[in-house]
Amino acid sequence: MAQAIEELLKDPNELSEEGLSWSKEVGMAFVLPRAALQCVPLAANEPRDGLQRTASFVSMPKASPKLIVAPAGPCGFGVFATERIASGERLGEYTGEIRSYDVWCEEIKALKMRRRNSDASSPFIREELYAAWAGSGPAEKGVVIDAFHKGNLMRFINCSCKPNCSFKSVSAPREAHGRLQVTTLRAIAAGEQLSVDYGWYHDPATLEDIRKEAVVAYLLDLPKLQALRLPDPVANEADSEAVQLVAESLKEARGRPGLRRRPHGFLAGLLDSEALARFLESGKHFSEATTYRTIPEPVWLLYEVLGGERVGIPCRCGSDASLNSSGRCSGIIGRPLQVNFTGRDSDDER
Ligand SMILES: [Zn+2]
Repeated sequence: MAQAIEELLKDPNELSEEGLSWSKEVGMAFVLPRAALQCVPLAANEPRDGLQRTASFVSMPKASPKLIVAPAGPCGFGVFATERIASGERLGEYTGEIRSYDVWCEEIKALKMRRRNSDASSPFIREELYAAWAGSGPAEKGVVIDAFHKGNLMRFINCSCKPNCSFKSVSAPREAHGRLQVTTLRAIAAGEQLSVDYGWYHDPATLEDIRKEAVVAYLLDLPKLQALRLPDPVANEADSEAVQLVAESLKEARGRPGLRRRPHGFLAGLLDSEALARFLESGKHFSEATTYRTIPEPVWLLYEVLGGERVGIPCRCGSDASLNSSGRCSGIIGRPLQVNFTGRDSDDER
């Protein structure tokens, strides 16, 4: 966080009157940086689509004074703890517009149609990344709290494969949707970012998109993958990153010793070089795939993550120690870690 705050301080334009009034409106103790002025400040949820405010009886805690919004690398901005926060502490409410899920989905579809002349769901657009599930709603159509256009500091909480917070829906017994309370799942140290699991991987339609896109990415690379031969697999810089990584990985397993290796990045870690080499040596080859199930085993995890990237929900939380100090990231928002979950064993189906 020291670096994040330094970035704020070296640019005097980052702290502005507008940022101050935004922060006052939502009860945040620190000034919102100018570049983070992306939405209308909202102290309380705003109902739309004929929906009502719920849980009006609940005394939701005010925004914790221990939170600051600051630059967070590739994620843009994040919410950081300025001092230690205890486990189970209630940090405030995630506010936004209360939307009927089906109406909201139609709006997103129409936006995609306007922008790219196709209503294909993938890739996601920014507008759909700030909606959090709040319950089944009065007509069982689902209700989301959408903080894209209007919200408070909680909309800046990033995703982690090791989340330290959750959004808990709070409602009265007969209310079918609730307010979202941000609660810590464990103690948080000063300088750590708040994080939640936005769980996109568990949404059936999104998972289907990820798998479809994994096949597309694999088929695009297929001719190049088929051209890789042991002991000297050749890929060049014009090839996709995946093809280059597979070639590197094969070289690592069976190439001449002593060649300089590229340092391992996140994607390279999804390949088991020994398994790849054995795959080719056993006479198998990279074959056509019609579904995600027929992508060859040694490259499946890599192409699944690339599928998630094409859908627009990559996770790289492990590369930011303030977001996930364990460094272990699944690569897709909401996906369990690969060591626990292959993504296509029959036991995995749920
Ligand atoms: Zn992650």
